[in-house]
Amino acid sequence: MLTGRVWPAHPHPYSGECLSSWLIRCAHANGMKVQTFCVRNFGHERQIWNRDVDRHAPEWLLNTLSEKTATPLTEVVKTTMLLFEGLFFTKKHLSGQLRWVLPLSLYHRTFRNFGVQFCPQCLAEDSEPYFRLSWRLAFYTFCPKHHILMHDRCHSCKMPVSYHRAELGKANQMEGEPMDHCWYCGFKLSEAPSVSMVKECSPAFAQWNELLSVVDQQLTGSGVFHYGRMLLLHQLCRLIVSQSLAPDLQSYVCELTGQPVLDLIKSRMAFEHRAIDERHYVIGLALWLSDSDAEHKLTTAIQRRKLPSNQVYRDLNESERVALEKLFTLPASKRGNK
Ligand SMILES: [Zn+2]
Ligand SMILES: [Zn+2]
Repeated sequence: MLTGRVWPAHPHPYSGECLSSWLIRCAHANGMKVQTFCVRNFGHERQIWNRDVDRHAPEWLLNTLSEKTATPLTEVVKTTMLLFEGLFFTKKHLSGQLRWVLPLSLYHRTFRNFGVQFCPQCLAEDSEPYFRLSWRLAFYTFCPKHHILMHDRCHSCKMPVSYHRAELGKANQMEGEPMDHCWYCGFKLSEAPSVSMVKECSPAFAQWNELLSVVDQQLTGSGVFHYGRMLLLHQLCRLIVSQSLAPDLQSYVCELTGQPVLDLIKSRMAFEHRAIDERHYVIGLALWLSDSDAEHKLTTAIQRRKLPSNQVYRDLNESERVALEKLFTLPASKRGNK
């Protein structure tokens, strides 16, 4: 067991870093492999890597990190999804889909979902590559700094990014390999191609860019991005990808915005489970629909029977419904045939 109040090497989190990335750097800074470091500090009973620690870190983990790195607990908490509680989702729950949070779908310590995104240029510019908490959010589909699309899997082998596994089964490997290598094939993630995105001058794009910057700055100056607006955006993303709830909505928005009508995966798959290119496209459409002119745009869509009014409030609990109704009141859909 390591003793002493702080670890011999005790790095602080980098700007926007998530807990799992930070913990791995702490192990490496102390010359240990992650598994060894965790067993020595937390024992065999307290498992770290069979859960999504960035989504939910147990208190003993938060407290130990705070104490052993001399970092205030309030800063430690900001390396987890607790930072976004009350803005992107109401309350953090342990299981099930958390709104806007990309799931890892852990199975025997293996990620089965593409829940960790990265910007190759950010990783390349880091003096020590690290992973950001904001990269786990479903609307974070491009880097607001480099204006390139994020990646959600290894460019070479297409496996999910899983940096905590990089050292597993590599007994002879030098300790502390940087995190920007694919755990499966060794490809350097920072060398993944930069896919530039169409930089639009639209207000929707400007808001999206601002949202991502705000998230990167740990919500400093979150301004217009309050809970109700983020909830509306999420409801619209859900409706656009749905074949049954609002089947005409996607083509309607495309017609108005001049966007192509792309084929979306036809399944009940949650928005957060969808691949990055699909999410990127859908958020673009949903943001246009939910901008500062949302009341007028949605009302028109309802009147033209492209959007059933009741679906906007679908599956919401009472407090969520109240949050949406605070934005504006939508007219009821007219009954009858088209
Ligand atoms: Zn970047
Ligand atoms: Zn790979």
